[in-house]
Amino acid sequence: MKPWAYSAGRALLDFVYPRSCCDCGEEITGSIENGLCWDCRTQTLGLSPPWCERCGMGVAGRVDHAFVCSDCHEHPPVYERGRSLYHYEGGVRTAIHALKYHRDFSVIPDLSRLLLAGLRAHFPNEEACVLVAVPLHPRRQRKRGFNQGVELIKGMQKLDHSLERWKGLQRIKDTETQTRLSKAARRENVRSAFSVKDTGEVPQKVYLIDDVMTTGATLDACARALRKAGVVEVNTLTLARG
Ligand SMILES: [Zn+2]
Ligand SMILES: [Zn+2]
Repeated sequence: MKPWAYSAGRALLDFVYPRSCCDCGEEITGSIENGLCWDCRTQTLGLSPPWCERCGMGVAGRVDHAFVCSDCHEHPPVYERGRSLYHYEGGVRTAIHALKYHRDFSVIPDLSRLLLAGLRAHFPNEEACVLVAVPLHPRRQRKRGFNQGVELIKGMQKLDHSLERWKGLQRIKDTETQTRLSKAARRENVRSAFSVKDTGEVPQKVYLIDDVMTTGATLDACARALRKAGVVEVNTLTLARG
């Protein structure tokens, strides 16, 4: 089912059966758009500074303002700054799971609102931002029927009309699931998985948007393809850090 068809069906269901929170199961009162109740939303564990200036990985203890972690020293990322909003646990984890694995599109407005707030907080003084989703391989896209990154960006655009989505990035290699691979193997596996469609104009600066950042290898491979095509600056923003 497509997300728009889902929304129409959901609106009818909300009328008949009140929605319950996808994390704690409590009935949601107030806005029927939300997938998480207020309590679960406020209890999500935000990533707080200090963090690595490049990849955004949280660090313990006192560090310099421009601290760069050992991973980024060893393999400097292609993107400029990578930022994530929450630890991959609790309500945010449940909501991401609900979206990705159970096609619960009711969580999109909540997650998009969090992402938009994160974009404005981490990258202030930026007016019209160009957002790019991590593309799925066409085969996987057909099988799943939607790309969670695209849906999250569309949710952000509904809240802020100045945001633009650029569709020039494509996945040319269907990499197998990454979860069982080592860090080095992941990096190698996705390195050449993306390219930019030959459509002429590329934006100067883009923000890659995704749900979860694990090692950052996928986002960095996207950044590599974008830079190669002429994008000057790539930043990344994900809901959660796995
Ligand atoms: Zn709840
Ligand atoms: Zn780092």
